[in-house]
Amino acid sequence: MAEENKTNNVTPTTFRMPDGRSLYMYGGFTGEPAWPWLEPNQVHSYSHRRWHPMRREWVVYSAHRQSRTYKPPANDCPFCPGAEDGELPFQDFSIAVFDNRFSSLQKDAPKPEPVPGLDLPVDAATGNCEVIVYSSDHKASMASLPLERRELLVKVWGDRIRSLLEVPAMQVVMPFENRGEEAGVTLHHPHGQIYGFGYLPPIIGAMAQSFREGYDLSKLTKLEQYVVADTPNASLLVPPFTRFPYELWIVPKQFRPSPAALSTAETTDVANLLARAANTYDTFFGRVCPYVMLVYSAPKGFEDVFPFHIQFQPLLRAPNKMKFIAGCELGAGSFLVDILPETAAQNLRNVEVRS
Ligand SMILES: [Zn+2]
Repeated sequence: MAEENKTNNVTPTTFRMPDGRSLYMYGGFTGEPAWPWLEPNQVHSYSHRRWHPMRREWVVYSAHRQSRTYKPPANDCPFCPGAEDGELPFQDFSIAVFDNRFSSLQKDAPKPEPVPGLDLPVDAATGNCEVIVYSSDHKASMASLPLERRELLVKVWGDRIRSLLEVPAMQVVMPFENRGEEAGVTLHHPHGQIYGFGYLPPIIGAMAQSFREGYDLSKLTKLEQYVVADTPNASLLVPPFTRFPYELWIVPKQFRPSPAALSTAETTDVANLLARAANTYDTFFGRVCPYVMLVYSAPKGFEDVFPFHIQFQPLLRAPNKMKFIAGCELGAGSFLVDILPETAAQNLRNVEVRS
């Protein structure tokens, strides 16, 4: 395989799949792809948004997603090299990004018809959904990927965010990873997703407003009792206002609006802390810890105030105890946490992990 890129800019090799989807190969790959099983010019089905008048937020409806791939056996994994009917027909590869076959949001989503008989605002579900596969190795994970690959992953996030924000309608791009069956994962090959939104979703909107009003996230990196692991350019910390019992955030010390703006040294530190977070959880809980990992970066218009950072929201509160989002959280939006952030930070700091 070709050697992975040493600079902070990455340029993919782009392929067009027969059904019109784009595929971006980052780093090395071997083999010439072909997808004889894909129908050319596949007809899209579109999602749409409806306004929830009481919660004051948009809900996306994509009925076509019900038929999506659900937990295929390991020998039928669509992301493994050589898989029959696979998405990635290569012999080997580093990182692959491609349009989701069952995309919830579409770049060319049309303005929907009003809902008959209802005076309910509706709008196009404009956006883009990509899948990002971290490795050709089915058994790899964020905890086991080599440092070089994790550095490449951070750069690929930056490149996809930059590239998707070039689409005029796109407002913000959020890479994320759902890990573990408890987090709803239907395919176990190491992968995440990258959602581009043609509107500002409420949580990112609230964060953007807070940063616009002057909230300084980087100050948390100076509070020793919350820092779990430190590097010269970024800290792994439990925020003092954690909503899940053992949240961990990766926060750069200098303001950077996107992973694309990180220096090479900063990229390395963030890449180191990605594995540190995953290994800390797996060691602390004594099992593969299900979590949701969120990569936040500046929406359009907030590039001067919104800092790139990563949040891990683990779904466990003890080795075999799930943290359920239930009545109080779902019904009132008020999180109940059994452990103080200071204690959580101390517990996680005491975990001995392989580096
Ligand atoms: Zn696989």
